[in-house]
Amino acid sequence: MDFRLTSEQETLKREFEEFFKQEMKKAPPGWGASLETMFSAEGFPFHRQMAKKLAKNGWLVRHWPKEYGGQDAPIIEQLIFSVVLGYHRGGGIDIFGVGMLGPTLLAAGSEEQKREHLPPIARAERFWCQGWSEPNAGSDLASLTTRAVRDGDDYIINGQKTWTSGAHLADWIFMLARTNPEEKRSRGLSFFLLDMKTPGIEVRPLYSMESTHLFNEVYFDDVRVPARNRVGEENQGWAITRATMNFERSNVGMMSGLKRDLEELVEFCKETRWNGQTLAQNPFVRHQLAQLAIEIEAGRAMSYHIAWMQEKGGLLMAVHAASAAKVYGSELAQRFAYAGYGIMGLYGQVKKASKWAPLLGRFESASQLCMGMNIAAGSSEVQRNLIAWVGLGLPRTI
Ligand SMILES: Cc1cc2nc3c(=O)[nH]c(=O)nc-3n(C[C@H](O)[C@H](O)[C@H](O)COP(=O)(O)OP(=O)(O)OC[C@H]3O[C@@H](n4cnc5c(N)ncnc54)[C@H](O)[C@@H]3O)c2cc1C
Repeated sequence: MDFRLTSEQETLKREFEEFFKQEMKKAPPGWGASLETMFSAEGFPFHRQMAKKLAKNGWLVRHWPKEYGGQDAPIIEQLIFSVVLGYHRGGGIDIFGVGMLGPTLLAAGSEEQKREHLPPIARAERFWCQGWSEPNAGSDLASLTTRAVRDGDDYIINGQKTWTSGAHLADWIFMLARTNPEEKRSRGLSFFLLDMKTPGIEVRPLYSMESTHLFNEVYFDDVRVPARNRVGEENQGWAITRATMNFERSNVGMMSGLKRDLEELVEFCKETRWNGQTLAQNPFVRHQLAQLAIEIEAGRAMSYHIAWMQEKGGLLMAVHAASAAKVYGSELAQRFAYAGYGIMGLYGQVKKASKWAPLLGRFESASQLCMGMNIAAGSSEVQRNLIAWVGLGLPRTI
């Protein structure tokens, strides 16, 4: 692998950097590029406006084919974009539409579905949410019970989804429903696309312990969806879902966000005195910072490796590589949050609204939110099961 950028790629990178440096000055107070801020009342208008600007510049989906709104750009350019976006804590990327559904439709959608759904994503006109988890189906997603029954040219959907991030703001939802009740597991599921304004859909908020409104419950009461909005064959939705999961787990932008956090934490330690010396002189703090630097560098190499695999082998990369990157990234973010929070001592607990909060309370907030990222998109235990089974060829136990 060659990590160096060509001179054209360097020029492109500078263009991205200049854009984000200017645009992020307009971010609302407390913006943190987390799901929680993107889907907050203050954050979402900025997020959507950024998406429009990225689309206007032709950057939102550069690597998609031109006919669906992209630029046929090499994946490495998309990686450079994600690295710059992550570093500047940029907004504008609808992780569900741009990050998951788009690549899924490119791989498995019909021509009609691609033409109907990809251009509105590319123009940042349509934001999506993901309706998979149910009250009794999370890790064991294949046991879900929301039903879709064929009725002429439509399906009628009844059931409930939960933890649906951003459903209160999304325009459309992609979801899984059971089309064959005889099959209790993955073989009886189908993948559907629904307009959130369809009669019979009700969204109810679920507030987190941080009082943020990210999650929702979504209820389906005799919701009619045209059969042409089923992606793939009836009862074959699981294979499509597994591809979507992999796009969700590769997460190449995260490491540059952590790199920026580390730079700021290092500056904080150089400037802050405790017991007659700066934190930067404390051997325990120094070693923690050095350890984080090593781990971030390793994570960066993993991200680049995935981009390289996608460039060589297409977007449908190996399950275990995506799982490894997801476990590593989310667990590193958690270690990092706790380390920063600890280094700041009692001030680490001060919330971002206070003038006493170091680094705008970023570590206080991260220490509460980081656990969720070990669960979202499949928990660390589930990812390790996949790595053991698919990556190492160990016998399947569940
Ligand atoms: C921040 C966040 C955003 C989310 N956004 C969405 C969204 O937009 N749409 C959506 O559909 N869902 C979303 N979810 C839900 C998420 O996908 C589920 O929470 C996740 O799949 C786990 O399911 P569960 O909560 O039912 O936990 P459970 O499946 O009940 O798991 C409980 C515990 O048991 C462990 N466990 C379960 N099975 C095994 C096993 N076989 N081996 C070892 N350990 C196991 C798990 O690791 C976990 O620690 C989100 C979750 C979070 C935290």
